Amino acid sequence: MNTQPQAQLKVQLKACYPWFDTFLGQMLSRMDAQKCHHGMLLLGPEGLGKADLAVQLAQALLCKTPGQRGCGQCQACLLFAAGSHPDFHQVQSEKQIGVDDIRQAIEKLQGTAQLSGAKALIIHQADSMTESAANALLKTLEEPTRQTYLILTSAKPHRLLPTILSRCEKLLLPQPDKADCGRWLASEQIVAEPALLEMYYASPLILRQMANAEAGLGYQDFITALDGLRQGSTSAVQVAGHWQEQAARFVHWLQHWLLSQSKPPGPQFNQWWPLYQASLVASKQLTHPGINKALLLSGLLSQLAGISSRSV
Ligand SMILES: [Zn+2]
Repeated sequence: MNTQPQAQLKVQLKACYPWFDTFLGQMLSRMDAQKCHHGMLLLGPEGLGKADLAVQLAQALLCKTPGQRGCGQCQACLLFAAGSHPDFHQVQSEKQIGVDDIRQAIEKLQGTAQLSGAKALIIHQADSMTESAANALLKTLEEPTRQTYLILTSAKPHRLLPTILSRCEKLLLPQPDKADCGRWLASEQIVAEPALLEMYYASPLILRQMANAEAGLGYQDFITALDGLRQGSTSAVQVAGHWQEQAARFVHWLQHWLLSQSKPPGPQFNQWWPLYQASLVASKQLTHPGINKALLLSGLLSQLAGISSRSV
């Protein structure tokens, strides 16, 4: 039975990001009412803060102070903060999560909890599990041991096996709107280009990352590169060589820039449209490992230079 007023619970654990405030409050209430699903799938775009939220949910589940969730004071919370809670595990990988990663993680969940409370496993970017890794996880999702919680995160749920999807509670996380995101950036003392805020307001952590972009690879550098190309002071090959490591970002910005150039639809729109289509194809091609990014970018940029020289 839920005997703790929600307002008090919220004081115990403040959401990692303001757009999760209400959601976290609701989840804490559900935990108190013992109404949390053992398999939770947190869904939202990349850069929303899913990983940090998953960690907060795990802390709340493991906290051992009666009636509180993530008190920060109990033995479980202290061990959690120190990164050494014996019943808390995480799996993540830069590329793919393999079957061995999942087997090892599941093994750690076997047996009784060392702190005799709950056990929690987070699988970050669960869509990066191989098929055999996902299959290895199924049994645990189907027959969880008591007080064992699996928290999965994903920005690409279409890549998850249907069997995984059907065994999890799918939680579509709230996203900030442009104003929310702007306020948060200001509170973090981050200055973002208006064009970037327009593109990424639902992915504030990406904006934060971009604010610290490597010198020469920021949004203003992108605009300068386009100007140089259109005026003929730089070549497509030069720009492509400079940006090849950030090719996906470059193409995304280019798409946005093309749309902003061609509003409202008119002669301009027709002029840019073939390049916009080519940029969509390029985005897809860039997801293939081994693609020659410099060559791909330089193809797009030559097309851009061609249009510009015709229209100057
Ligand atoms: Zn605690």
